[in-house]
Amino acid sequence: MISVVQISSYDLEKMQAAVDRNFQLLGLDERIPREGKVTIKPNLLMKRRPEDGTTTHPALVEAIVRHLQGLGVSKITIADSPGGPYTRLALEGIYRASGMEEVARRTGAELNYDFGTVHVPHPDGTVCKAFDLITPIAEADFVISACKLKSHCMTGLSGGVKNLFGCIPGLTKPEFHWRYPAEKDFCGMLTDLCETVKPGITFVDAVVSMEGDGPSSGELRETGMTLCGENPFELDLLLTKVIGRSPEEIPLVDCARERGLCPASAEEITLCGDALKVFSDFKMPKSRTVDFISSIPRPLRGICQPLIQQFLTPRPKVILSRCVGCGKCAESCPAHAIAIVEKKACIDRSKCIRCYCCHEMCPIHAIEVKRSRLLKL
Ligand code: SF4
Ligand code: SF4
Repeated sequence: MISVVQISSYDLEKMQAAVDRNFQLLGLDERIPREGKVTIKPNLLMKRRPEDGTTTHPALVEAIVRHLQGLGVSKITIADSPGGPYTRLALEGIYRASGMEEVARRTGAELNYDFGTVHVPHPDGTVCKAFDLITPIAEADFVISACKLKSHCMTGLSGGVKNLFGCIPGLTKPEFHWRYPAEKDFCGMLTDLCETVKPGITFVDAVVSMEGDGPSSGELRETGMTLCGENPFELDLLLTKVIGRSPEEIPLVDCARERGLCPASAEEITLCGDALKVFSDFKMPKSRTVDFISSIPRPLRGICQPLIQQFLTPRPKVILSRCVGCGKCAESCPAHAIAIVEKKACIDRSKCIRCYCCHEMCPIHAIEVKRSRLLKL
């Protein structure tokens, strides 16, 4: 079951009422361990302000913290491993910019500065059978994921499942792109990761969402809702409906359906609370506007895929007039395809695996996703 609460702004009082109502609609208070450690995992992708719409809004995180404190929970940690290095310096800047520092100051919740990891086996994993998770996630008695509704260049959707990629420490994340360059394998790995982390509750910040070239270079869209559920796969399936897509178009959701982790259709999900809003004109990233592979007969896909990857898959392109040569794209490139030459990023196309991490991590939108000229004929 998923709860939907309509809300028109990030006003703290309204957000508190929305979060309290989500908890009440689903009867979630009993699920919270009063004595244990509860970790809230927002999406803090990069150093952005709340109004940029890239990160989970601090009002949602604050309302969750206050609800937990109202239940008597005292050990509450806010933790994420954003893109880029997982260091105190990087985290301090992100906590400050995203508003999490202020949430911690006002509520007394702890901000994570433990940079350790714990090896967590997942023997039933289909693609990946173990993960090194950041300590506050691995050692939590209960994890609450607080994600942001965004389009995503690689996975189509950034929701409950994709948010958990931030449970992998810092620059280990690009390694996963390198290990699983095929979209299907990468989504399979994220599904395994979600089953390993097992968040008890997932909240979705869909008050203002990001459409177009998400998860960091898209446009803001007022969608006016918070959603909540216990099954992140089911929530993501419902989000595909919110953004007017079919589950087949979102590989992450398709993977969960194939494994039986959520119903086949969003119509089978039981909803409670307010009416669900649907945005059938929600813009998708340029990287996902063409799907040749699914129109090719399955036996031929193996032969055609490398050619399509090389010539037709949208590719990252540096906007030289904007690039300041900071190197953040090179740092996050799993294929080591980017060099900084004369203070400008330069992409070696022959090495690029089209993961779009560079596009995601460039702080000033200096990398665009360019469609092939052949597609414009
Ligand atoms: S493309 Fe962006 S991230 Fe890369 S060096 Fe230029 S400004 Fe920095
Ligand atoms: S250049 Fe960009 S899209 Fe290509 S592999 Fe590197 S990070 Fe991924």
